[in-house]
Amino acid sequence: MSEMINVEEIFASKVFTRATMKERLPKNVYKEVIKVMEQGGELSLAAADVVAKAMKDWAVENGATHYTHWFQPLTGITAEKHDSFVSHPDEDGKMIMDFSGKELIKGEPDASSFPSGGLRATFEARGYTAWDITSPAFLKEDATGVILCIPTAFCSYKGEALDKKTPLLRSMEAISEQALRIVRLFGNTGASKVVASVGPEQEYFLVDREKYLQRADLVFAGRTLFGAPAPKGQELEDHYFGTIRERIGAYMKDLNIELWKLGVTSKTQHNEVAPAQHELAPIYETANIAVDHNQLVMETMKKVAGRHGLTCLLHEKPFAGVNGSGKHNNWSLTTDNGVNLLDPGETPNENIQFLLVLACIIKAVDRHADLLRQSASDVGNDHRLGANEAPPAIISVFLGEQLEDVVKQLVETGEAARCLEGGKLETGVSTLPDFTKDATDRNRTSPFAFTGNKFEFRMVGSADSIASPNTILNAIVAEAFCEAADVLEKAEDFDLAVHDLIKEYLTKHQRIIFNGDGYSDAWVVEAERRGLPNIKSMIEAVDTLTTEKSVKLFHKFGIFTEAELESREEILYETYAKTINIEALTMIDMASKQIIPAVIRYTKSLADTVIAVRDAGADASAQIDLLKAVSDKLSAMKAALTKLEEVEAEAGAISNAKEQAFYYKDVVKEAMEKLRVPVDEAEMLVDKQVWPMPTYGDLIFEV
Ligand code: ADP
Ligand code: MG
Repeated sequence: MSEMINVEEIFASKVFTRATMKERLPKNVYKEVIKVMEQGGELSLAAADVVAKAMKDWAVENGATHYTHWFQPLTGITAEKHDSFVSHPDEDGKMIMDFSGKELIKGEPDASSFPSGGLRATFEARGYTAWDITSPAFLKEDATGVILCIPTAFCSYKGEALDKKTPLLRSMEAISEQALRIVRLFGNTGASKVVASVGPEQEYFLVDREKYLQRADLVFAGRTLFGAPAPKGQELEDHYFGTIRERIGAYMKDLNIELWKLGVTSKTQHNEVAPAQHELAPIYETANIAVDHNQLVMETMKKVAGRHGLTCLLHEKPFAGVNGSGKHNNWSLTTDNGVNLLDPGETPNENIQFLLVLACIIKAVDRHADLLRQSASDVGNDHRLGANEAPPAIISVFLGEQLEDVVKQLVETGEAARCLEGGKLETGVSTLPDFTKDATDRNRTSPFAFTGNKFEFRMVGSADSIASPNTILNAIVAEAFCEAADVLEKAEDFDLAVHDLIKEYLTKHQRIIFNGDGYSDAWVVEAERRGLPNIKSMIEAVDTLTTEKSVKLFHKFGIFTEAELESREEILYETYAKTINIEALTMIDMASKQIIPAVIRYTKSLADTVIAVRDAGADASAQIDLLKAVSDKLSAMKAALTKLEEVEAEAGAISNAKEQAFYYKDVVKEAMEKLRVPVDEAEMLVDKQVWPMPTYGDLIFEV
């Protein structure tokens, strides 16, 4: 029998929760903290001192020796610099563990090596971390001991955002303010805040750690750069939702426990489409906490894998030819008095507030499809979006039959008198209950799908932070809400005005609605006819950040300054170039030091065999054919390797970041693909004993 897990007991046991604060803080300080958490503003230094002391005592009681301001620089992962609570010993030489309010609220990591895209020259390299009081502090335990982690935002000396959290928090304020104007128009005066909620479904692969370590490509690039397909792929669909293997099950159990302790509401787990691929989804929560928690999920997935002799691959495309990994970002808006603005109710056609919200979102997505596309791009995701895999790179909105019908009526007549109903699902088996079905089926091919009471943005990459997609979603919808409120607040006849506005928005922006098969070639053609952008790669999406409409949007809601946007562009180009550079160098290394030598040895042994067989008077034609075939691949590899080395050297000499990034995409990547072809073909010919690394079959079927 395995040990019992008491979820209630362990849940959030490593979090400085509200309940812990309530228990440990004087009433007035607790009240002040909650007020700032809920309504914004600043904590007084006196209160901060009290909170810091309580936090430190709690952390130390739980074994902590250090604290860190935990932040999310533009590398896309989290950063921490540990400081111990140790202070000067007192007169008797006794150590007093210390932590002040000042240290809690503000930090100044010497973080000049983080990407800043020119926002911070090294001579003015000050960067500050500021406590995000809305995201709870937690304890992280690893080889360095127990560390108190304080979620923080990271800004430059001049207040420019150097991280992913600051713009997200700004966007949350913007959407709250604008959404409030909308709900007020409909008579909801009780709400004082509108919260963006997010639930990300995280996909990942698990491979055996020993095998992983034998593949330089997995170690350095997080994905395989070579590898012939295994005889079996995902075609039988026997992995999706399949029984979870023992070793994986033990991993998932351990992972859940670690996440629950951190207050992450890990909820669903299942095998995904590709062999060795899995998914974990937590219960949705406030956007910035969801972002922080998703970072913890990714980190914990990797950490726990090590304990089980496994390695967790979060890359969007670790293996060619089988499904890659993404992150479905479920997003909705809820007032603090409990109304989900995306809940259509039983009869959406009569729910005018919902229809206005929907019309605004459709308008926002159509107007800023390019920005949404950008927010979901990273280097790895280029292998999915617009490549051979779902979802497509074209943004469209899926509404489902019921809402599509309502929209159609509104566009055609300005009225939506009817509403399709769900009806009964009849199984035809008398012992099974007939249940009411949803009025809308699911569409798995849409990048932006309405799923009942939320939108599911399915483009996001598995390794990426979900901060950018949610910042963009909040920003673009805030803008649409603002414009609608500007009109409606002045309207003499509100009912008429709102009716006209919904019709106007839906009519103007209906081209973004698409309920068909998003994977089909016909859609690509149709989307082009509709004038929808089809941005094929990460770096082609970069300059969507600084178009006139984007700069205006971000400026209006104080989410990004132009300088911040330009710095982000610079960083994106640099990141792209650096990543492809690492991949190219890894390929060169593997090809020249492992693969080509192995193939040479193999041809030598074949040649020896040919001679021996002939000398023995037998027919060596089969061996000769094989030798010729392998030798052909060998010369093709050598030629492709030389070419890759050439273009790689050229790429390094380009100084302009954008130019360099495009050179990597157009020239270096192509040379990489050309090298991969003969290598993968050779792998199919060469004796498995001789092949210098574990194969796809070894990696994804033998976990
Ligand atoms: P699916 O069937 O789409 O795979 P999952 O259960 O795996 O569904 O994930 C759905 C995600 O959506 C979960 O994280 C869930 O908490 C989240 N979610 C549910 N309702 C909302 C909502 N109103 N707003 C945001 N996220 C939500
Ligand atoms: Mg799911």
